[in-house]
Amino acid sequence: PPPPGPLPIRRLQESVINRIAAGEIIHRPASALKELIENSLDAQSTSIRVTVKDGGMRLLQIQDNGCGIRKADLPILAERFTTSKLSSFSDLAHIATYGFRGEALASISYVAHLMVVTKTKADACAWKAIYTDGALTPTKGATSAEPKATAGTDGGKPVLQYSDTSVSASQLFRRAGSSGPEVSTPSGSTTEQAIRLLYGQTIAKDLLHTTVSSQSADTTSDDEEDADGVPQSGSWSAEAHFTNAHYQAKKMVLLLFINHRLVDSSRIKKALENVYTGILPKGASPFIYLSKVTKDMLSLQIDPQAVDVNVHPTKREVHFLDEDVIIERIADALQQKLVGQSQSRVFEYQT
Ligand code: ADP
Ligand code: MG
Repeated sequence: PPPPGPLPIRRLQESVINRIAAGEIIHRPASALKELIENSLDAQSTSIRVTVKDGGMRLLQIQDNGCGIRKADLPILAERFTTSKLSSFSDLAHIATYGFRGEALASISYVAHLMVVTKTKADACAWKAIYTDGALTPTKGATSAEPKATAGTDGGKPVLQYSDTSVSASQLFRRAGSSGPEVSTPSGSTTEQAIRLLYGQTIAKDLLHTTVSSQSADTTSDDEEDADGVPQSGSWSAEAHFTNAHYQAKKMVLLLFINHRLVDSSRIKKALENVYTGILPKGASPFIYLSKVTKDMLSLQIDPQAVDVNVHPTKREVHFLDEDVIIERIADALQQKLVGQSQSRVFEYQT
């Protein structure tokens, strides 16, 4: 029988709290990979190397040539809310790094074995540290949990290694099967080259390209400033790589980056779907890579929702100021290019 009154309220143990939080950030190996790559980029790496075994279930190893981690910071590296990227709340308004919550490595250490090998320019040797549940643990054969001096890190490169113990899903890394267990991103490649590399020649050969910005010739852009001369949405520009009418996939792929962050916008998706409705046969879908970059990272200030994305790690859907106008301009630009490129089909163009 149910108890006669309410059950007592108890405080959750910290380890339980941390484990629940870890599950919000690391859903599957791909989430860990995303976090680790973002860390490499935040550390100014120009070369990032990813090695994967069993779709990341057995091993996920990231090597980068970024700034590395100071030995003195290793003891708290995998604690929750430890970060080198944010110190006060007001920093959030103009944060230019992917991370700032200091939760990724902590989360990974709760769901996997985490090993870090790192060497900064100032270090004479590399340091190896192993983490479990947020804390340093002794490396094999050692009695203390201190980071251990180690010979090398593959030519001075820091190595972050993650191998799974308790992540339960096993999807993702679809591409790993086709291109071998290792993916490496060459530095300095263009967006076109990256799309060809990651998505293949079938898409790359049918790609169109266009750019559009708040400055583009447009008769309605006079009202960009309000009465006080304050810019309403700031200047913006967008670049799109998108497939032409020859490319017909079953499912639409939209990669949308705003201020370099991969996000979702159901309104942009809808608008671009509509553009292609008049161009592709029923049931066929395009591939679109769209990045909207505000000129000045400070304009994240007038884009509070975009910051919001990372304030909560699971939130990807964004809204931004003057969404309607900006989306319409982008959709128009794609439409014009698609119509202009087509020789084999006749389009009805409504004005
Ligand atoms: P966040 O990225 O939000 O700061 P993380 O848990 O992802 O939190 O990382 C914690 C800290 O560890 C970072 O702030 C950074 O100083 C350091 N770090 C993590 N990965 C790397 C890396 N690949 N290279 C250099 N430093 C790193
Ligand atoms: Mg991070």
